[in-house]
Amino acid sequence: MKKLLAAVCFIVFNLHAISIEDAIQQTKNPRSSNAWITYDASAMAAHRAGRLNRQLEKLNKKTGVEFAIIFKKNLPVESAKDYAHQIFNTWKIGNRETNTGLLLVVLVDQRQWAFEVGYGLEAALPDSFTGSLGRNTMAPEFRRGDYYKGIADAIGEIEKKIDATPKEELGAKAPFQLAIGKATYNLRDIVFIFAHIAIFLVVVFFVLQTAFKPNSLEKAKTIHLFFMQLFVAAIGIVLSFFYTSWFFKSFFLAGEIIAMVIMHQTWDETTESPVSLSALYLVLFAFTAIAVIVPVFRLWHNPAEYYAAIPFLIFAILIFPIYFWALRAIRRGKHICEKCKNLMELQSEEKEDTWLKKYQIAEEKLKSVDYDVWVCRKCEYIRIEPYIHAGAYDKCPQCSAMAFRFVENKVLTPATYSSSGTGVEIYKCSYCRKQENRHYTIPQKTRSSSSSSGYSSGGGSSYSSSSSSSSGSSYSSSSSSGSSFGGGSSGGGGSSGSW
Ligand SMILES: [Zn+2]
Ligand SMILES: [Zn+2]
Repeated sequence: MKKLLAAVCFIVFNLHAISIEDAIQQTKNPRSSNAWITYDASAMAAHRAGRLNRQLEKLNKKTGVEFAIIFKKNLPVESAKDYAHQIFNTWKIGNRETNTGLLLVVLVDQRQWAFEVGYGLEAALPDSFTGSLGRNTMAPEFRRGDYYKGIADAIGEIEKKIDATPKEELGAKAPFQLAIGKATYNLRDIVFIFAHIAIFLVVVFFVLQTAFKPNSLEKAKTIHLFFMQLFVAAIGIVLSFFYTSWFFKSFFLAGEIIAMVIMHQTWDETTESPVSLSALYLVLFAFTAIAVIVPVFRLWHNPAEYYAAIPFLIFAILIFPIYFWALRAIRRGKHICEKCKNLMELQSEEKEDTWLKKYQIAEEKLKSVDYDVWVCRKCEYIRIEPYIHAGAYDKCPQCSAMAFRFVENKVLTPATYSSSGTGVEIYKCSYCRKQENRHYTIPQKTRSSSSSSGYSSGGGSSYSSSSSSSSGSSYSSSSSSGSSFGGGSSGGGGSSGSW
């Protein structure tokens, strides 16, 4: 129960996540007061933040590296890494020419850390290095609550690593960047989006190839499969706009390819006709729900940030009416006789029973299969196309009719704390009356221990959008007028984690 509650809190907490744009607005740029660190005074003493700032200042004087730190008590962003990536490129940390910028984000309540590494430092500070720094240097201290020590040690390690890197390996020109709306896409983002589009075009190619074949059940099946794949590809593209981290992008691209291969491979087993509401659909709907909720939520808050995703989102939604229209057109459209090439005639529901077998009529009554009977008037050739409504009924192992289903579950001996129990699931065929009893064991009961869950409870802190923007203060070493970062950019290099 505790775990369930924690899971619910986790989900609700995530839904209450603020957009990255709002989070950026709530974060004071430390350069406006000539500092390198923005920190919440409630989580770190000013003299300690001052000491970190002197470390960063020294590093900048010596190497030219612009190392900024955002240390926040509570900033409910969904991903610290996405936030770090966006704010890095908004503030333009690092020199414009050399891109030697570095950003560390630490969110105390969210228990997340993230490094964002500018292009010019990617060689000196590879993802494996910053990842290990986060996990092995910072996280153990953070767990003890010593944020200052974790960060100070990390700065020390970074300084050593930069000192050990040959001068010629520091600094790199930013590669091509594309700006659409308020978002910028670097080469890696563009490669990912193109990979999705390539998959998408392959699917379109196959749909077009099938589209010119004569109407048949086979064609309807192929079209159905490819519409589903088109949808997966469109959603994959949409997601690649919303998740900027390298990990998520690879994850979605791989997921897209795997989903397509599985759909293709298991096609004959999962459904035998296009109009079925099978497990495949449920998976697709679940995928859609997850895939759409986050983007819609974020789009609602800042459409400008995700401009480029909108056409693909509209496309993904439009696929469904086009799909239903196409299927109907294929199912009810012209059917040509395989024998004499004459037009075939679709029989009405009343007439078609003459051509159907007894079990097929039974299936129609159960609404598990809808048969279309096509007759050629010239040569008397008959074609029967079964459109299966999978879901309620399975194929009977005895008579093969789609009339077999689960009817009852009986617990024979209940499980106790000392022994396991047994039960039986009863399946029956509505046509031939075959009954099958599937026995199963119920695992022995265990007493629930009050183990701690993996989720952070969040301490009941919920985000309130009003008046919290002033909580971020930044360390100021002098009272002179502010400056800004040098104009550097990053391509998503760096790493992130939680503690
Ligand atoms: Zn014919
Ligand atoms: Zn049967």
